[in-house]
Amino acid sequence: MEKDLLTARLTRSVILSDRTKHLEFEVIGNGRFDFIPGQFVSVREPKPDGKFITRAYSVASAPHGDNRFDLCLNRVDEGFMSNYLCDLEPGAEIHLHGPYGHFVIKEGDRRDALFIATGTGIAPFRGMVHWLFDNLEHHQDRQFWLIYGTRHPQDIYYREEFEKLAAANPNFHYIVTLSRAADDWTGARGYVQDRAREIVNGRTDMEAYVCGLNQMVSAIRHLLKDELGWDRHQIIYERYD
Ligand SMILES: Cc1cc2nc3c(=O)[nH]c(=O)nc-3n(C[C@H](O)[C@H](O)[C@H](O)COP(=O)(O)OP(=O)(O)OC[C@H]3O[C@@H](n4cnc5c(N)ncnc54)[C@H](O)[C@@H]3O)c2cc1C
Repeated sequence: MEKDLLTARLTRSVILSDRTKHLEFEVIGNGRFDFIPGQFVSVREPKPDGKFITRAYSVASAPHGDNRFDLCLNRVDEGFMSNYLCDLEPGAEIHLHGPYGHFVIKEGDRRDALFIATGTGIAPFRGMVHWLFDNLEHHQDRQFWLIYGTRHPQDIYYREEFEKLAAANPNFHYIVTLSRAADDWTGARGYVQDRAREIVNGRTDMEAYVCGLNQMVSAIRHLLKDELGWDRHQIIYERYD
């Protein structure tokens, strides 16, 4: 069921790369805006012809116990909403409903987990990782690997934040793998599937959370299920296209 339409004001806009922005919003006049890390909001705005369109965006922050949330999005060629949002200036208002979605950390069995993202698929993991490592009870006795894949180093969003969290928490492993790295790149090379295969190393007692474009999500599901013998319920995913 569709929830009430909310209004949110852009409070800060940060350029992450030539096509990608980090946007911070506060919901107006509603007290708290509650969500579970990993959920998305549905933004609804009119196109120039007056027709309304709605697009989903993962919340890229952990809940702060107030009315604030962040988004991380990239410009899609010829797309309306992504460019509309990327062009907003602080003070602008948008309309949205939500939060929605089941791409959230499973409660219960507390297994070691892989978080796998490409591009702006990193958004829900920023919220999840901050939530996990803000509170010992959320992460203790578990290992987490965040595997982020992109082409070039300039597209490694939130790198410093994740590196700091990895330095402070021995059970958080942050792995960036570049598919088109220049010679001076000293980190991992190749695709997220290559890193996932190495980390899993024959284990079947883990879970994987996967977010990004369908081609990558399908490749990871194929790897984990068909090649490595995982059950499909161990793989939780969000597809952006
Ligand atoms: C649950 C969910 C959460 C999402 N969260 C995010 C998010 O946090 N950040 C984000 O940037 N996008 C996210 N998306 C994608 C977003 O909803 C829009 O599809 C995207 O912004 C394009 O919208 P548009 O109106 O600009 O272009 P449209 O005209 O709707 O799309 C143009 C084409 O681009 C494809 N496309 C969609 N997303 C992408 C993409 N990221 N890169 C390249 N091509 C794409 C579409 O399949 C379509 O064919 C999410 C999608 C879903 C379903």
